[in-house]
Formats: sequence, C-alpha cells, structure tokens
Amino acid sequence: MRTFEDTYRHKGMRKQLVDLVRQKGISDERVLDALLNIPRHFFMDSALDKTAYEDRAFPIGEGQTISQPYTVAYQSQLLEVKPFEKVLEIGTGSAYQASVLAEMGAQVYTIERQKKLFEANKVFPYLKKYRNLKLFYGDGFEGLPTYGPFDKVIVTAAAPFIPPKLVEQLKTGGKMVIPVGMSGEGQVQRMLRLTKRADGGVDEEAFDNFSFVPMVEGRNH
Ligand code: SAH
Repeated sequence: MRTFEDTYRHKGMRKQLVDLVRQKGISDERVLDALLNIPRHFFMDSALDKTAYEDRAFPIGEGQTISQPYTVAYQSQLLEVKPFEKVLEIGTGSAYQASVLAEMGAQVYTIERQKKLFEANKVFPYLKKYRNLKLFYGDGFEGLPTYGPFDKVIVTAAAPFIPPKLVEQLKTGGKMVIPVGMSGEGQVQRMLRLTKRADGGVDEEAFDNFSFVPMVEGRNH
C-alpha cells in the first residue's frame, strides 16, 4: 500500500538525505532542491518510508528498481537541464527520476517497456502535479521520433551500446547521459555524456561507474 502524507518526520529525513548527496559531491542547487521537494516515500510502499530516505536503490516490482538518490542526482546534474527544455527519458520505472526533471522545469517525455509499470504510473496521483510530464509505453531503443528532436536524453537502464535512434533524435548541441556497458551480476557501466555535433556525430565524455538494470529491446506486456 502507498500513503500520500508528507510529515515533518519525512521532511527531516529528506533534508538529511539531501545533505548526504551533497557531501558525496553533487553541487547543482537546482537538482538538490528537486530532491528536497519530492516526497520519495510516495514512490514506494508505505511500509518502506524510512528506506525511502536511505541513499540506495530499491526493488519496485517487475524485477525493476527505483534508482539510488545519488545516482538520480548525478545523472540530473550531468544533464544540465534548463527550464522548458525537452527531455526524453528511457526507463520510467518508479517515475522518480522523471519527477526530478519535471520539478526542475523540463518538458519530460518518459518511456517504459513494462506495461505494468506504465499502467501503475498512469494512475499515480502525485504525478498529476506535473503537467510537463508525459508517460509512454514503448521501446526506448526506438525513442519517440514524432516528439523529437530533444534538447536532452537520459537513459536510466544499462545500455549495451549507444542506441543510434536516440542520437538521431537529439538536437545539434543536445546532450545524452547514458550508462554504457554489459549488465548483470557484478557488472558495472560507465556513465557517458554525449554532445551532438552539427555533422551528426557525438563528442564523448566519460564519468564514474554505476550499476543499472539492463536496457532490454522490445516491449513487455
Ligand atoms: N528512472 C527510474 C529507474 C528505473 S530502472 C526511476 O527513477 O525509478 C530502469 C527501467 O528501465 C526499468 O523500469 C525497465 O523496465 C526500463 N527499461 C529497460 N529497458 C527499456 C527499454 N528498452 N525501453 C524502455 N524502458 C526500458
């Protein structure tokens, strides 16, 4: 069960979590403010409201996870999102990362391949708050060609390679933040930030290693 009550106790735990994420090296105040404003416990079972404010990933069903707050903050900071930018997210999952981007003022388009997760998010009351957040059921390898091009793309699952269609759907000068590498037990992926050049190619910057659930081709019913 989930409850949607944000008490002083929750706010206090959230403040401590944000301080921890800051200590770990996140300095973008707009990212930290979004983390402070969003009740992460709304995205998890109400029995887990303390766990929601620990800096760790957690299972959300369908073998998927809500990303670790530090990881969400890290990717959001690398994305350098500005208000009104069009952002495509691959891997809606719990919709926590999507909410962080929406809270920062982006126009968010997020795709999930698992029907059940998509359906659950469709009726998740908290998300109604964000008129700038649109949910899609589909295969992230395909992107959303009819809604592009995008200023930014964020992939929140381990990509075995850089999906060419996602590069195509980026504007010139646009950026993609994506963890690339093999996935599975004990595997890590390298966080990359790609910037699209006028000639259609990309410039690549490499950051830290993380461990994500795999990006899988095709939709799941
Ligand atoms: N952004 C999420 C993290 C979810 S974990 C959050 O904030 O909680 C990664 C998600 O990517 C999973 O829900 C998984 O089902 C989804 N996923 C994996 N491959 C995908 C694909 N090809 N297209 C869309 N979603 C995908």
